[in-house]
Amino acid sequence: SQRLAGKVAIVTGAASGIGRAICQRYANEGASLMLVDRNQERLKKATETLNTGHGNKHCISEGNVSEFDFANKLVDQVKETYGKAGNVLVNCAGITRDSLLINMTEKQFDDVIQVNLKSIFTMTKAFIGTLRHTGGMHPASIINISSIVGKTGNAGQANYAASKAGVIGFTKTVGMEMGRYGVRCNAILPGFIQTPMTDAVPEEIMKKYLKMIPMKRMGTPEEIANVCLFLGCDESSYVNCATLEVTGGFFA
Ligand code: NAD
Repeated sequence: SQRLAGKVAIVTGAASGIGRAICQRYANEGASLMLVDRNQERLKKATETLNTGHGNKHCISEGNVSEFDFANKLVDQVKETYGKAGNVLVNCAGITRDSLLINMTEKQFDDVIQVNLKSIFTMTKAFIGTLRHTGGMHPASIINISSIVGKTGNAGQANYAASKAGVIGFTKTVGMEMGRYGVRCNAILPGFIQTPMTDAVPEEIMKKYLKMIPMKRMGTPEEIANVCLFLGCDESSYVNCATLEVTGGFFA
């Protein structure tokens, strides 16, 4: 049987790379999805190819996940569409604005914090608000896509590493506050994954990184989606406040 049968999942950053692969995997496992992204064109394309063979259906919402108003409207829309709050929230939207600190602009720093960290607050806060019912909370799984560099740092990514380290602290705290209600919160720390985000990394730098990865290759978005499936379904029912590294051994 499908591992997410009957479940509703909200996925941000759903139009590209890792988020898109998560949506495909989740749909194949029977979940109904709310795909969220600010790129409407790619969002529509991503939805067209999703599995609906398990009686599941999918809808999209275009907007900026850093905006609290948008996040609140979005979770309300999920309730209206599916008649219940979501069972899974995957916060995957993210950006890079790489630069050595000596050249980094205030805008580069602020933009990355807004998208990678503030959005985790807006979406999680809005989502948790919808779980409340008379007598308690609906159980749920919240999965935040952090990064291994949130733990290790990375030259040229002070803004990005800080945002992803912030995601780890936020994740553990939400898991502590919400665990008693059966609401779990975990983070995935991917290493180097083949997506449009890493396509932008110059080849010279890429070669250097590949040498440092024990498995001598990049990961695929599907390999992150597999771990995200585990955290989203009941097989991980006692996993909370965890950070799962999926790096091929990189920076371990
Ligand atoms: P990607 O660029 O392919 O996809 C990111 C998606 O997020 C895009 O579709 C983009 O439109 C969307 N997005 C960006 N800002 C948004 C906003 N404010 N509101 C709504 N949508 C927004 O990148 P990816 O490689 O698939 O990365 C997904 C996540 O994984 C990111 O959080 C990234 O930091 C993280 N990550 C990626 C890697 C990697 O090697 N690719 C490694 C570690 C962590």
